[in-house]
Amino acid sequence: MPIHKRLQQQLLDAIDENGETSRAVLLDLVSSTYEQLEKKFARWEKPNGESELLSLGFAEFLETIQCGILFIDSDGKVGHCNKVALEILGLNAKSPRKAFSLKQVMPKLASLKITGKSDRSVAEIEVAPGKLISVHARRAASGMIVTLKDAEAAAPIRNASFMVAEEYQSLFENATCGIYRDGVDGSPIRSNPALVKFNGYSSEAEYRKAVAGSYTSWYVDPARPAHFHHLMKTQGCVKDLVSEVYTHRTREKVWITENAWYVRNEAGVPIYIEGTIQDASERIATLAIIEQQANLDSLTGLASRHKFLNTLESMIKDGKSGFTVYSIDLDRFKPINDIYGHAMGDLVLRTLATKLQSLLREGDLIARLGGDEFAILQSDVVSEAGVAELACKIVAEMRKPIWVQGHNLLVGSSIGIATFPNQGNDAAALLGNADLALYKAKKSGGNTFAMFDAQLRSGLQHRLNVEEELKSALAQNELVLFYQPIVVASTGAIQGYEALMRWQHPIRGLLPPSEFIQIAEDAGLMTELGNWAIKSACQQAAALPSDIKIAVNVSASQFRSASILEALRSSLEETGLDPSRLVLEVTESVILANEAIADTIHANLREMGVLLALDDFGTGYSSLSYLQRFKFDKVKIDRSFVNGMSEIPANLAIVRAIIGIGHDLGIKIIAEGVENEMQAEKLIAEGCTLLQGYYYGKPKPYSEAMADLAVKRLHIHESVVQNGPARAQG
Ligand code: C2E
Ligand code: CA
Ligand code: CA
Repeated sequence: MPIHKRLQQQLLDAIDENGETSRAVLLDLVSSTYEQLEKKFARWEKPNGESELLSLGFAEFLETIQCGILFIDSDGKVGHCNKVALEILGLNAKSPRKAFSLKQVMPKLASLKITGKSDRSVAEIEVAPGKLISVHARRAASGMIVTLKDAEAAAPIRNASFMVAEEYQSLFENATCGIYRDGVDGSPIRSNPALVKFNGYSSEAEYRKAVAGSYTSWYVDPARPAHFHHLMKTQGCVKDLVSEVYTHRTREKVWITENAWYVRNEAGVPIYIEGTIQDASERIATLAIIEQQANLDSLTGLASRHKFLNTLESMIKDGKSGFTVYSIDLDRFKPINDIYGHAMGDLVLRTLATKLQSLLREGDLIARLGGDEFAILQSDVVSEAGVAELACKIVAEMRKPIWVQGHNLLVGSSIGIATFPNQGNDAAALLGNADLALYKAKKSGGNTFAMFDAQLRSGLQHRLNVEEELKSALAQNELVLFYQPIVVASTGAIQGYEALMRWQHPIRGLLPPSEFIQIAEDAGLMTELGNWAIKSACQQAAALPSDIKIAVNVSASQFRSASILEALRSSLEETGLDPSRLVLEVTESVILANEAIADTIHANLREMGVLLALDDFGTGYSSLSYLQRFKFDKVKIDRSFVNGMSEIPANLAIVRAIIGIGHDLGIKIIAEGVENEMQAEKLIAEGCTLLQGYYYGKPKPYSEAMADLAVKRLHIHESVVQNGPARAQG
């Protein structure tokens, strides 16, 4: 195929469906052909490639093109130019088409240079006041090829091809997002008013001129252009790309979201880049606020749980070790909230948060996990002693009274500690284990700390198993009551029994209350078990001689539950048991846990006619005011005093004092845990009313206890027959 035909074909390919020739494509085609010819004719002195090119019919083609085209040699002389170029340069149509000095006709254009690495240059040149021409130049083997276009006149032509329909034109003009069409080299072709304004200009022409005159980087991040081009190259488009850019005029940094795509010719060659640009500042700011909110506890200003876990996770991911998690829970925060209200509670939390923070070193992280729970992440931990030191410091500081709004408040804290990686090798395990240790610290009375050890975990598993099995124990009839006699001190006659719960476990055998009562209480199962004990004790007591009393223990949750009244009412009604034969044993801790409502409950129980005993007296609060306030029928001296009575003089003094108070207040005193004759004799000598303990009989199943009672009654009957009746007691 002769060269001119091929060239012509290529040139025709450069014309798009709107009849416009892409100047970039045109320049490439012309210059590559030009170079080929130059190479071909380089061996001959003359003629040069250009004249050969023109002789191939190329000159005719150039005359049909809508833009001006000039070949400029290295001396700044025009090698050839077409008619449009002459018009733009203000020369008449008859002027010579070649060999005139550009410097003379248009010095500004003559001074156009292609510098740097690029082989192109794009500019707008003012040829007369207010008259702009747009210039594209490309380096050629022996000079430049330049295309010229009247910048003002070009606009309507472009408009027509860019936006075909009128209604789209309105969209382009009025859209609030920036819309543009650029050449593939990035030179702006059209920019809508929103984009022009975004860049700090008032008209499109002004913007185009500014951009053509100075290339400045658009993206703030220098790696961004490469990323953009990579996306365009691999995906042919860019979708919702968020970047920080400089506005053109003021060099302000603004976040944008951009979309871009190629417009291709029929051969699939990209000829334009089009796209939209949207201000994303608000979106970024909102994201930043959301991020900040998620990371911060709004009440105390400490880190949030989210931030704490994230930090913990990234430390683990980064391969750091030797850091410790402290899980902190306030000891008496709930009553403050209940008594003084939530606003006061919030102030207390803020005060304590500041205190906690002041104890930490830089690099440690403190967070409020929620409620009255805090956590500390201590980095660079060197020894267990160091960990204990910080824990002690926190406990000591937190138990000091604080002044809040004129109130002197005592709070205190419990702390559980776990160190990475030995006590948990991921964030959840570490925090979970610290919580287990915290639970232990709480259980041991608060104002203390505990370090995690593996036993805690197996202990927890055990508790969970027991809890699960307990749920079905009642339905499976696995619970039983054992009966331990309570005898009259002066005669040794059985006055009544204390019903003590046992669990006949299908695998583990007979379990004492220490194995399950506390677990049931913590799991919220104790009310149900306790009410069952009342029912079952009433049923069994109804079958006993009418002078025999039955004592049943009541737990804290059962005491406060309304269901205890219903259980008592129905049990007494169904069995016809005289309420005065039923004794409810409560400990001081049961009352303390229900302080506010204890009077009401107490009154309700009294109204039913049942008797009340204060259990384990001497071990807890030992409040004499309770004895006054609640009018107990009986007080049980805890077995720890009875036990050490003969060795520890103080114990005897306490036993003596309690018996004395009992006499003064008209309350019967029961001594628990009497194990031998010596103790029994001592208590009898001190004037104790009733005695209970292994010496008189261990807790036994109902049938065995009843058999013992029958035997005992028989002996008494015989002795009465021989010696006359003893004085009745109880
Ligand atoms: P508690 O009410 O103080 O019951 C007395 C405990 O002392 C019983 O333990 C009894 O077996 C034991 N004991 C009696 N005499 C002696 C003695 O001479 N020496 C020694 N070393 N111990 C003696 P048990 O049966 O293991 O019950 C333990 C605790 O479990 C009870 O203490 C009570 O607080 C609780 N409990 C038992 N049954 C129930 C129940 O039905 N409901 C509730 N809420 N708690 C119960
Ligand atoms: Ca008891
Ligand atoms: Ca007791």
